[in-house]
Amino acid sequence: MAEPNTFTGVALDRAADGRRRDDDWVAAQRAHAGARVLRAGTAGIAAADGRLVLDPTTPGEDAVLLGLDAAGPLFTEDEDPPPPDRTRRPVLIGAGGRRGEAPRPSPGRFGLREAATVLPAGEAALAGYAAGLLNWHRGHRFCANCGEPTTPREAGFSRTCPRCRTEHHPRVDPVVIMLVVDGDRVLLGRQAAWPAGRYSALAGFVGPGESLEEAVAREVEEEAGVTIGPPRYSSSQPWPFPSSLMLGFEADYAGGELGGVDPELEDVRWFTRAQVRDAAGHDAAWTETGDEGSALLLPPSSAIARSLIDRWLESDIV
Ligand SMILES: [Zn+2]
Repeated sequence: MAEPNTFTGVALDRAADGRRRDDDWVAAQRAHAGARVLRAGTAGIAAADGRLVLDPTTPGEDAVLLGLDAAGPLFTEDEDPPPPDRTRRPVLIGAGGRRGEAPRPSPGRFGLREAATVLPAGEAALAGYAAGLLNWHRGHRFCANCGEPTTPREAGFSRTCPRCRTEHHPRVDPVVIMLVVDGDRVLLGRQAAWPAGRYSALAGFVGPGESLEEAVAREVEEEAGVTIGPPRYSSSQPWPFPSSLMLGFEADYAGGELGGVDPELEDVRWFTRAQVRDAAGHDAAWTETGDEGSALLLPPSSAIARSLIDRWLESDIV
């Protein structure tokens, strides 16, 4: 059986019902003797000895309530929120400055990708959940409607504009990711920026007015130039870089020659089951680089792309 996807398994009561809108209830959580705070910032998530650090302290005014467990309420707090500068995009928590860039190593702080590989599964999920929410706050300090600074509400599950009264809610961006299979071969692609040898499942954002099935078929046609049969849902994974939800599918090749038009993809090709099985013996780190022209390097086990690939390999075992 495949392992649960990394960043899943948060074991908290999120109190995502009426309780968060009750100011007295929220105040009682902040004053609760069992309250703990998970600190996070640009350098990463607070951790020590391979575990998250949940500080038993009174949370600050802007701390976000993640939820409740048997010990009490658990908050997360941004320890270095970027200044409210309208001319710059705020940097992300624990994911580095630019896309795909790792944060500088910092004592007592884990980057999100490090958290995914070092922490126990439930704590990695908590780190992703906290970073996802705090990153949303970093990126939504101003009203999208009128530009006024917004105020956190519902213990951090929404922001309200004091001028035009628009309510803003944490957003999740759906991304379809799909393994196109044709008997004993599978279709994988690579972006030019990836380490040499790295190939992964095709993927892309779902557009407005589009079903998941339609997005899968469109992305495969754009990226690889081929058509597929009906996609089969596999599993999903929150991907906090910064706010994606990866929706995993498998689909059978139906026809067409390889030849996509997506400029982000450097190469798309078929790999045989034997090639993929050889590569699957090795769990490559995010930053690992294969030799030029070397064997296939699969995504690390923390990525849903790898779960899709492993599941396809297992399906051959009788
Ligand atoms: Zn507004």
